[in-house]
Amino acid sequence: MLSKAIICSLLLCLLSGSTLAVPVAGLVPSASIIAPEPSFADNPAWPEAGEFSWEWPVPGFQYLSASFADPYYLTHTGIDIVGRSAGLILGAPIYAVDSGEVIFAGWSPSSGYCAIVETDTEISGHRVITRYMHMSALALTSRDFGTRIDTWRILGYVGSTGNSSGPHLHLDVNARDIHGALPQRHAIDPMLFFAHLYVPMQP
Ligand SMILES: [Zn+2]
Repeated sequence: MLSKAIICSLLLCLLSGSTLAVPVAGLVPSASIIAPEPSFADNPAWPEAGEFSWEWPVPGFQYLSASFADPYYLTHTGIDIVGRSAGLILGAPIYAVDSGEVIFAGWSPSSGYCAIVETDTEISGHRVITRYMHMSALALTSRDFGTRIDTWRILGYVGSTGNSSGPHLHLDVNARDIHGALPQRHAIDPMLFFAHLYVPMQP
C-alpha cells in the first residue's frame, strides 16, 4: 500500500542532521521497533497542543501516510501529508504554515526540491524552523533567501522528488536554540501546531 511504501528520507537540505527515514523491510510495526523519543535535550519546552494554530500547508489534503516517529520507520522526524487516495495530491500548491523568513529553497538528492522557512513562532528561546520536502517544483528561488514571507505564501508544489516513492509533502519542524553558540536542532511533532485540525491517517 502506497501509504506505507512512501520512503521519505529526511537528510540534508541545509540544516538537517543525519536523520534518515527507512522502512524496515520485512517487518510489521511492532513494539520491537523502538522509535527514538524526540525531545529537547535539555529544555523540555514542547508546545502545548493548541498553543499554536498554524495553517494547513496543502488544503484539501488532510491525511497522513506517516506520522512523527512513525514506528514503521526507524526514524521519521516529520509528517507525510497525502490525499485520501494515492497520487491525488500531486501538483497541489504548498502554502507557508506561518509567516517567517526564507532560509533555503533548492535541491538536495534526498529531499528533492525543498524549502526551509524560519517561522515567526518562537518557543522558550527557540526559533521554529519548517522544512517542506519532495516538491515537484519550487515557487521560491534563491533570490528569496533572506526575505520575509507571509502565511499562505506559495512555496512550491507537491511532488515525489528526492528519496520518495510517491507524491506527498514531508513537513518537519525543528526548534533551534537562538542563544547557544552552536545551533542545536530539536525535532518537534508538527501536529502539535495543527491540533485545531482533524487529520487522520490515510485510509
Ligand atoms: Zn516524511
